[in-house]
Amino acid sequence: MKKKWLIGNWKMHGNLASNKALIESLRAELPQPDERATMVVCPAFPYLFQLAELTKDYGVGIGVQNVSDHLQGAYTGETSPLMVKELGGSYAIIGHSERRQYQGENDGLMGRKALAAIDAGLIPVICVGETAEERDSGRTHEVLGRQLDAAFGYIRTAHDKIILAYEPRWAIGTGIAATPEIVQTEHEFLRQRIAIRDKEFAAKLPIIYGGSVKVSNANAIFSMPDVDGGLIGSAALNAREFVTIYRAMLATMPAAVA
Ligand code: PEP
Repeated sequence: MKKKWLIGNWKMHGNLASNKALIESLRAELPQPDERATMVVCPAFPYLFQLAELTKDYGVGIGVQNVSDHLQGAYTGETSPLMVKELGGSYAIIGHSERRQYQGENDGLMGRKALAAIDAGLIPVICVGETAEERDSGRTHEVLGRQLDAAFGYIRTAHDKIILAYEPRWAIGTGIAATPEIVQTEHEFLRQRIAIRDKEFAAKLPIIYGGSVKVSNANAIFSMPDVDGGLIGSAALNAREFVTIYRAMLATMPAAVA
């Protein structure tokens, strides 16, 4: 059986006190995550070390929401994936649509960032997804294919060193999630596209969904055969909701890991 993933993107929220309270609430709701499904939280950069300390004896992974595409050098304001690793991070979200939208990030940069993250020993969570306009004009697969080829064109790594996230832009932060059928269709498309290069890698690669996942739709989305977990934004800021979504995901899985 494949493991699943639940990754919380805290975006630019939080402070020392609220981060501590959120982790305390998470622990109260869920004393330890289940071995079948990895839980990860991604705070804003300045709190990385705080989160690593707070979760030392708690089986939750820590990630960041962005990294530089360089490991070191004269890149003012950037954060190296090596620094993330040293401060206790294990994951890096790459190419999130909010970075594409507000910071002008493009497909090529996403590929280079993913590669730098892998070089530093982080697991990149590579985000792809179409806008509403691209979907409405029937270009979803063209866009997803282009984004995927840009990222995976650079990367040669093992299936357990990388995560792909399908995040349709129109579903992020809007409260309107993709239907389970749309999620399955697009995950299947992504897996098949990767299988053209490497069938075994494609079959094992975790492909997770993000975009307005909440308690009410989690079970239906996570029940889809090509969905290996979720990337959660706003619902990750509420411990009870995040843990309820996590449990909804566990409920779609067999009792034990093979
Ligand atoms: C996200 O930011 O990656 C995300 C999926 O946000 P939300 O769950 O709030 O739509």
